[in-house]
Amino acid sequence: MKSCLLMLLLSATTAMAGQVVSLENELLLVEWDAERGTLVSLRDKATGREWLEPAVVTPAYTIQLVDEKTPVSSANATAISARRQEAAVLVEGTHDKPAAIAVTCRFWLEKGSTLLLGRIAIRSKMPCRIAEVRFPLVTLRLPFGSNNEEDRVLWPECDGTLLRNPSVNRPDRQFRYPGVASMQMMAAFDPVAGLYLAARDREAHTKTFCTRRSGKGLELSIAHLLPQSPVSQWELAYDVALAGLRPSPGLKKITWEAAADLYREWAVRQPWCRQTMAQRVAAGDIPKWITEPTLVFTYSLRGEMQDGKLGDRLPLVVEQTERWRQVVGAPITSLIMSWEKLDTWVTPDYFPPFGGESKFTAMTRELHARGHRTMVYLSGLHWTLHKDMAGPDRPHVLVDQEADFNRLGRASAISDAKGDAVISGKPDKGVGQIATICASTALAREILAGTSLRCQQLGIDCVQVDQIVGGGMKECLHPRHDHPPGGGTWCSQALYRLFEDIRKTGKARDPNFAFSIEEPGEFYLPLLDTYHARDLHQGRWPRSGAGVLGVPLFTHVYHDYVAGYGSEGCYVSERPNRLALYQIGMNLTCGKMPSVAIWGRWCEPEKVDAPQRRLLKAHLDLWRGPAGEFLNFGRRVASPELDVPPLEMTFTEKDGKTRRPLSVPSVLHSTWKLADGRAGTIFACVYDKPVEFTFGKEKLTLQPGEAAFRKCE
Ligand SMILES: [Zn+2]
Repeated sequence: MKSCLLMLLLSATTAMAGQVVSLENELLLVEWDAERGTLVSLRDKATGREWLEPAVVTPAYTIQLVDEKTPVSSANATAISARRQEAAVLVEGTHDKPAAIAVTCRFWLEKGSTLLLGRIAIRSKMPCRIAEVRFPLVTLRLPFGSNNEEDRVLWPECDGTLLRNPSVNRPDRQFRYPGVASMQMMAAFDPVAGLYLAARDREAHTKTFCTRRSGKGLELSIAHLLPQSPVSQWELAYDVALAGLRPSPGLKKITWEAAADLYREWAVRQPWCRQTMAQRVAAGDIPKWITEPTLVFTYSLRGEMQDGKLGDRLPLVVEQTERWRQVVGAPITSLIMSWEKLDTWVTPDYFPPFGGESKFTAMTRELHARGHRTMVYLSGLHWTLHKDMAGPDRPHVLVDQEADFNRLGRASAISDAKGDAVISGKPDKGVGQIATICASTALAREILAGTSLRCQQLGIDCVQVDQIVGGGMKECLHPRHDHPPGGGTWCSQALYRLFEDIRKTGKARDPNFAFSIEEPGEFYLPLLDTYHARDLHQGRWPRSGAGVLGVPLFTHVYHDYVAGYGSEGCYVSERPNRLALYQIGMNLTCGKMPSVAIWGRWCEPEKVDAPQRRLLKAHLDLWRGPAGEFLNFGRRVASPELDVPPLEMTFTEKDGKTRRPLSVPSVLHSTWKLADGRAGTIFACVYDKPVEFTFGKEKLTLQPGEAAFRKCE
């Protein structure tokens, strides 16, 4: 009896070997090793599943100081412990090398939710420069449950991606936010349990969401990229969150939507969700034409003529646009490509546009007179230095703008810590050899805002800032720019102001002006009239890699706040083509504006294979008709899989060689809910034979390329 009492007294005052401190809510039990400060258990309470890999000891944090080779880690602290302090758990570490710093991590349970929240703070005796703080880190056991085939990792990559079976498929990826990460969340799950990791930052601090293989496990972490100014005190300005998952309403299994639904609870309370899309359209903030049926038609001014030779296709734009209107029965938004003076994607010396100002303006005027709309892309803040390209589909193009860049651009370019401009790309590949102008410079405004205005003066309704994917840019370390080198909020704030400026100027001239960026980014949502989505793709960027499956994550969280368009890459073909039909169907069922991409090809719209034409027209008819409100303003909700035959498809990566076989449903579908509670489901048959299936109590049969809409009572 005495010894028991002694034990109790001891455990209350000192940390003993193997002793743990814990926090728990209804879904998760979390335990830390009191002596080492590391997480030792992350238990899903409903299933009893232990998420952590016991063979991998993961540090509580790592801190990368500028100019140091190895990071400071809780694993090499001079002293470390975890203890309870009232309702929180504190992990405290002290370090003497390479700098005398003290680190405090605090964890607590959010009241009224299933989230465990955390923060990290650093104090340093001497001011130090911090490049990156990684917190939290967890290493999960593989497989998560009993069957690795069912394991999934949800990534915030652009429109959304899943990695299937991370035991087999490479999970080593990093997603920068803002940028390629369109939101601040990742998850790991199988059908019975799920684990969610998020940041809750409303100011768009630079960070990366990381997954990698670590020993036998799968490591998930968030790396916060800091302004590299000397500090003696720093604290993370926002919470990180960890949670267990429950299935989405109406489902029995955990799916990726479970994580998306949990994230949405926080997301819709953020500044970027002050108004829904319906409210923005009603207020005139988004022009009404964006919500009226239109087909986005991607067409290059330089390209193939009817006789197969290369030529000037500007005189054909109006006729081609009219022919597409006849085929799909709706006005066209002409996405005019290769409009730039020197060549496609050659920037910033854009003007006069290809064909000359007067011909270009006459073309846009004629399109407007016939009820169509016009759109172009700007090559972001890139500066083409060298381009040297030739090929069967293009005349030889030789561009050398290096002297101009040295004279006008170099001092404003994204640079390394010495102030040397970062140059990337090769003259004979992609967009050529380029530098990038830093968003915080006056030159950035001059290039982007100036170009947008001139495009508008030439009759362009919608300008897309392309090639600043998701509103994220490379890190600039220039010592003499007016921003701290490295991360923080300066870059997202500078881009936000730039985009806002472009949009305000455009709308002041014409309320129908619309602004778009390449791939979504939640932080910029109030500035977007639409966005360039790629929900239609599989097996290629931004849904590239073995085991990767694209899912409409951004759409699921945000569609009732902004709706995107179906990209510059929706294929059509004169022959029966599974890929084309799948892409057209995905644009419909993911709530995107329908699109057709011809680029420089010669294509007779009337000769496009009948099921493809049928599905494009069906999309526009549903948009004009009963599904219109849902496609424009609906919130995507999870729905059970349909019992339809699988369609075995092979997608091809952009290299044209790497094949990605994938099984997709032969009928694609999605369910949408309006603010007043009404719901509806959209179906698209992408099979080459009729498909019969049951939805609720109804039996439906859809022909190849046929779509349908059903209200859910
Ligand atoms: Zn800079």
